Amino acid sequence: MTTGPGGDAATHDPRPAAAPMTLPDAPPAAIAAQLPDGNLVVLGGPGSGKTAMLEAAMHDILGRPGGAALLVTSSRQAAVASTDRLLARLERAAGGSLACVTWHAFARGLVTSHADLLPYRGEPRPLSGPEQWSLVRELLLHDPPVVQWGELEPLVGTRAFTDELAELVLACQRRLISPEDLEERARAGRRPAWARAAAFLAHYLGHLVLADLVDQAGMVVQAGDLLEDHPDVLAATAVQVGTVLVDEAQELDPAQLRLLHLLVGGGARAILAGDPAGTTDAFRGARPGALPALAASLDARTLLLDRSRRLGGPGLDAVRRLQSAGPDAAAPLHGGGITRLEAASFPGPAEEADAIARLLQLAHRGDGVAYGRMAVLFPTPRRMAGPIRRALERHGVPYRLGAGERQLLAEPIVRHLLDLFRLALEPGRADELLPSLLTSPLGGLDPRELRALRRAAVLADRPLAEHVAAPAAELGTAPPIAVRVADLRDLLDRVRHWASELEADRCFWEVWRHAPVFGELVRRAEADPSDGGVARQLDALTAFSRVLGLFVDGRPTATMRTYLDVVERADFVSDPWLPQSRARMDAVALLSVYAAKGQEFDVVAVAGCHEGALPRTSWVEGVFEAWRLDGDLDPVAHSRAVIGSERRRFVLAISRARDRVVLTSSKVDGRGEPSRFLSEIGVTPSSEPLADQNPVGALEAAGTLRRFATDRARPAAERLAAVTTLAAMPGVDPTTWWWQRDWTADPEPIAPEGHLRTSYSRIGTYEDCHLRYFYSSVVGLDDRTSYQMAFGKLMHTIFELAAKGEIPDEPTALKAAYRTRFGPAWFPSRAIAHQYWRDGMAMLELWHHGEVAAARRALRFEVAFEMEVAGHVVRGRIDRVDAADDGIVLVDYKTARTPATEEEARRSLQLAIYYLAATRDPELAALGVPVEMQLVYPAQARGGRFARVSQRPGPDHASLVERRLVPLLDGAAAEAFDPNPHADCRFCAFKTICPMWPQGEDFLATVVGAGREQGGTP
Ligand code: SF4
Repeated sequence: MTTGPGGDAATHDPRPAAAPMTLPDAPPAAIAAQLPDGNLVVLGGPGSGKTAMLEAAMHDILGRPGGAALLVTSSRQAAVASTDRLLARLERAAGGSLACVTWHAFARGLVTSHADLLPYRGEPRPLSGPEQWSLVRELLLHDPPVVQWGELEPLVGTRAFTDELAELVLACQRRLISPEDLEERARAGRRPAWARAAAFLAHYLGHLVLADLVDQAGMVVQAGDLLEDHPDVLAATAVQVGTVLVDEAQELDPAQLRLLHLLVGGGARAILAGDPAGTTDAFRGARPGALPALAASLDARTLLLDRSRRLGGPGLDAVRRLQSAGPDAAAPLHGGGITRLEAASFPGPAEEADAIARLLQLAHRGDGVAYGRMAVLFPTPRRMAGPIRRALERHGVPYRLGAGERQLLAEPIVRHLLDLFRLALEPGRADELLPSLLTSPLGGLDPRELRALRRAAVLADRPLAEHVAAPAAELGTAPPIAVRVADLRDLLDRVRHWASELEADRCFWEVWRHAPVFGELVRRAEADPSDGGVARQLDALTAFSRVLGLFVDGRPTATMRTYLDVVERADFVSDPWLPQSRARMDAVALLSVYAAKGQEFDVVAVAGCHEGALPRTSWVEGVFEAWRLDGDLDPVAHSRAVIGSERRRFVLAISRARDRVVLTSSKVDGRGEPSRFLSEIGVTPSSEPLADQNPVGALEAAGTLRRFATDRARPAAERLAAVTTLAAMPGVDPTTWWWQRDWTADPEPIAPEGHLRTSYSRIGTYEDCHLRYFYSSVVGLDDRTSYQMAFGKLMHTIFELAAKGEIPDEPTALKAAYRTRFGPAWFPSRAIAHQYWRDGMAMLELWHHGEVAAARRALRFEVAFEMEVAGHVVRGRIDRVDAADDGIVLVDYKTARTPATEEEARRSLQLAIYYLAATRDPELAALGVPVEMQLVYPAQARGGRFARVSQRPGPDHASLVERRLVPLLDGAAAEAFDPNPHADCRFCAFKTICPMWPQGEDFLATVVGAGREQGGTP
């Protein structure tokens, strides 16, 4: 890689910029006709018509005999949109070929057509995003290591480390930073991590050349090297390009700037358009505020578009206020129309999503705004995209996913398909994946049927995954449910084979052929081509198959297993090589704020405008701190730069709408203040409803009428009118409403013949709170799996394997076993994954020094037991059984950080049940008399070993335990499920439906009260 002209020219030219000439307020074609000769930089704020002016200029040039022009934009969507608009107008063009491309596409054309001049054996193959990530990972895990990582060694196998390094190698290339430059910066800044990354970068780049591969950032670098090293190619390219028109010029990174300078140096004319205060791609190497200096370095005349065709009124005022608060000089901007600006806050994301869906629906029905002219923007799609999509579906509002981060993978049908593959290959993830798969189109159950299945699993006293694997006759559910469960199980069995044996794309096609849901989709699309939901699902599946095809093209023989290994980190749709899939319907666009760049709508809702999301207030700095590549700022300057960049992102969001912008926010778990930028623009979020509260659609109307009908405070005439209207509404059938039904007359008892089958942990829950037991174990509502559980399971496994000698007792072997099993993706953030990683390493250290000797003498591991207590069956599993002088010690690992107290251990029902089991279960009883039951805490050291607390049995321990246990088992069997006022509610998931808490007090009370009044019919 070489640093060419222009890499830093945009910021280093010392000449003062001349005052810009203001272009007239005229149609784009008229403006284009008046553009002066020579290089030009056109400055303009949001909506000032920069893109239209560039397209008009291109149209004008191509209309002249021999005219040649190239329009370069920042995204594929923008390139396709410009091409479409130009093609529609270009019937009389006489000039060169029409070319609207991204920088990557332009560079790719140059590199592939001159591959013989570059250090490749043939035409280099572009790497897709997932392939690049996977290559970095492959090099990182190479044995022997390609780089000595020193103190970073423990992190090397984590996905988070691969993420960072994959991004760093791209970041260096975008900034034209060679391995030698990085090494030099490492020395100067005393950053040993960069020195190691520099060695890796050198190896990575060398590998790409040897394998005839090129990544997306490298493509632009290679094109620059080609033009720089081959003047004949440069001259021919400059002639072919003629005039290079650059949109979003404020976002150019150093590698793109070098290409631009080379073209201009080779004789091409440049016309650039950009917003001087609108840089949002600084993290990709763009320099905020660099446009005036860029104009000077190109010897270009600066022009100004000062009239916004989109914004006016409060919307424009807000943009002006925000831009004037930033350090970069903004282009002056006047407006014409009125852009309304509103802000609203809600108690939670569900209410926020519902309000947005209603707003869009009313704008469409009441104001006649086409759905395709509306958008919802997300600062953090992860938090809000799910609730918004569900709310739009509930309200019947069609939507489409725009390009942006991971949008294809976010399509529900693709997500379900990936979950099917994951579950087939990793059956251990059944708790996490199976429930949603069962209710997906692939499983075909509705939520009520899933609850029935869960309840049947609880009654059979086995986890859902184990229950689903049972023969259909033992599922204990209605036949239609059993048939669908059996079908999904059969499909999973087949997928298991396809996913590990076939290439990824062939695996997809096998599933496509065999899963009935896809045939059904095609039939529905043929029967009703206007069904937008079906069309979107088919579009997503087509795009997904194309992604798989590309993946396998690049890695022949790559299976679905290989694909899944990289898919968690893949960003397919933003890959510059992938063709864009176009929306075919009139639907609301759901976009990340970044993906909305260059787009215009009539109505825009920006969801999640709260502190932490917009602006982001916490950043994962990571090991390499890539942001320091753009300058070693002190902490205060860095924070200012971050807030400045977030302010520009906010401006980008609020400047997309012509008529109306609605900024919404809500709290999560009581946290989330509205964005500070709202107060900067003088807007206070209202808690009033966003839209007219009159019902929209039959469903809402029926709901409102039902509320009227049951509201005793309303006049009788009003309630009667509501009931009459309801009865006359088509499609409304009051007999299906749940509150019209009586209680089940003769419910199936949860303990047939009064005999309960349960586990020690469930009955422990019952002892703390009967109602929580009912919600979690009887109704099956608690399906949470936590990262703590996954981590706990991992540590148990390692300890067991190490104690059995299946993992050698050497630090490197323990670490290697830990690294291959540790899953950073289990955790909600990299920071938490990192902390758990360190905790696990500390536990292994402690294990190695203080535990292994005793563990190797253990009598048994993971002993399952089953015992009868007063006619009930209690089952469980003991982690380890050790030998003691006078009997046996029963051990249970707890990965919690805070150990129980000795008193808590003495009273522990779990340890008491272990004791009873060890005296009753024949296998355990054969090992000896239990003399101690221990809770062992690997996260805490005490005396050089794991901390432990214990319970020691007294002479009549068994009868004491039984006296405590039997009433609990009898109570649960008799279905006594009252909440406990003294329960430990801190981590209970059911507060919202628990009458002991204000938020849930009417959940059961209303029903019971109404029932009493109405003689038993609630
Ligand atoms: S909130 Fe407390 S009382 Fe209510 S169900 Fe949960 S543990 Fe029981």
